[in-house]
Amino acid sequence: MIGVLALQGDFEAHVDALRRAGVAAREVRGADEILDSRGLVLPGGESTTFRKLMDGTGIEDAILTVARRGDPVLGTCAGAILLARDVEGPPSQGLGLLPMTVVRNAYGRQLDSSIVRLTDVAPGALGEEPLEAVFIRAPRISAVDPSVEVLARRDGDPVLVRKGNVTAATFHPELTDDRRVLDLFLSGRPCA
Ligand code: GLN
Repeated sequence: MIGVLALQGDFEAHVDALRRAGVAAREVRGADEILDSRGLVLPGGESTTFRKLMDGTGIEDAILTVARRGDPVLGTCAGAILLARDVEGPPSQGLGLLPMTVVRNAYGRQLDSSIVRLTDVAPGALGEEPLEAVFIRAPRISAVDPSVEVLARRDGDPVLVRKGNVTAATFHPELTDDRRVLDLFLSGRPCA
């Protein structure tokens, strides 16, 4: 059972996408429900709002526990911001599960959201086909530690990354029918 953090944002789209792909999924709202899940999705939304809603709930520790015990974790857009170590715009600290720097809202405002065919994809992980990616007030990954695998780029910037069982996309794979990112997330294994 995959838990989708349902504090705010587009969690319903993630639950639908997982179920359409035949994966058991449910909304999770508290630390106990998170710890009972065998994988976790942190959806898009507003990362500053997530942080406020998580404050003092034990949710952050529960996410860290799920990731550290080796269950797959996927963060999309605001969820990717939460997973990062360093956040800019304004500067803050993320959960640190992915050693990378993200700059919030770096591609412009809501109206500048876009659908892009990503052609710079890692063939080993994703195959040769371009990946259609929906960007909505997306963050930009401006720096990654060498331990982070970059699996797709947009104009040279990483937009899909993975370290062991923790995967992050700055776009919204739950809004397209392509299940490659989902499969990548579910197949994530802890680093040796
Ligand atoms: N702009 C949002 C943030 O900074 C992320 C947008 C999204 O998740 N679609 O948190």
